[in-house]
Parts: sequence; structure tokens; C-alpha cells
Amino acid sequence: MDYIMFCDHCGMPKPIVEHIMREYFWIAHQVYCSNCEKPNQIPKYLQELALEMHKQHYGKNE
Ligand SMILES: [Zn+2]
Repeated sequence: MDYIMFCDHCGMPKPIVEHIMREYFWIAHQVYCSNCEKPNQIPKYLQELALEMHKQHYGKNE
């Protein structure tokens, strides 16, 4: 399943594929728009979701 973020600056939708969520979003704070190349803050709920995906994929070690 892919996720969509909309650019705060130009409104361009950006599809986020699952492996990008899992590998990148849980540690990243912003993502660059592919249209206007400005940084967008990654919403907290997406970061939390990404962290859950990462934990499920690699196993919990807490
Ligand atoms: Zn943009």
C-alpha cells in the first residue's frame, strides 16, 4: 500500500511507497517535494506509522 503526502508549498501529491516509509520516514523529519523541491515536514502520524512498519519488519528489540 502506498501513502500520499501533499506538498505544503505547491500542493503536488507525492506518493510514498511502502519501503520508503519503512526505511526512511521513521528517522527522517522532512521530505523534499519532487515538483518544487521545497522541504515538507513529515506528519507525526506518518512517522509513527513508519516506525511501526519498521518494527514489524525487523522485529522488536526493545
Ligand atoms: Zn511542492
